[in-house]
Amino acid sequence: MRIPIVAGNWKMNKTVEEARSLAFELSRKLREIEGVEKVLCPPFPALLAVSALLQGTDIGLGAQNLHWEEKGAFTGEVAPNMVAEFCKYVIIGHSERRAYFGETDETVNKKVRAALVHDLTPIICVGESLDENESGRTGEVVRRQISLGLADVNPAKAAGLVIAYEPVWAIGTGRASSGENANAVLADHIRPALADLFGAETAQAIRIQYGGSVTGANAVEFFGQPEIDGALVGGASLKVDDFVAITQAAAK
Ligand code: PEP
Repeated sequence: MRIPIVAGNWKMNKTVEEARSLAFELSRKLREIEGVEKVLCPPFPALLAVSALLQGTDIGLGAQNLHWEEKGAFTGEVAPNMVAEFCKYVIIGHSERRAYFGETDETVNKKVRAALVHDLTPIICVGESLDENESGRTGEVVRRQISLGLADVNPAKAAGLVIAYEPVWAIGTGRASSGENANAVLADHIRPALADLFGAETAQAIRIQYGGSVTGANAVEFFGQPEIDGALVGGASLKVDDFVAITQAAAK
């Protein structure tokens, strides 16, 4: 059985002090919820402070990005071993990074492989744009993102990957996919693409989240679907009650 995983992507929000206070409030309530893996992904400057706060809890810490090189002249970038000093998880290939920072399936692939070398759990984001969705290309797009993004990944580590299916048109728009539609993309395209790469058994073990305007109010719709193993949450992860309600809804 796949254990659901709910991760909060705080994006470029919260100073260190604000992050400390949000993480404190969240940890008080989240630590009581069992049967779900819980992850907070603050911005880089807050990782140290939040990691100290989460010590001794079962709440994991994730970064929102990393670079694939080990070290060197890459101004402004953060190396995988630096992320691994504080984090167990890392979000890779978020659609905002693909849209605004030129990330491609090839750079996603380098990042995924670098993360695995450092025993980080990558949360790899895939999803189609509105145009791709409306022109019936969802399956083709997510299959390409999976096959290129996860090419040459060590099969022995593949079962530990986490995929986030995030239709771009649903992110931050308040217009979530329906549970049924999201489940169909996972069942018809994402899990089969994972099976092509790693075999059916490993594909069954890989957790696939839904992301895109998940709230405390609509979370149940997604977690009732057989293929959906939790959520990657943006806006609602900054609201204590919402994020707690989402996490509770995901718990098995
Ligand atoms: C995200 O950024 O990964 C996301 C899903 O955002 P939101 O929940 O705000 O749509």
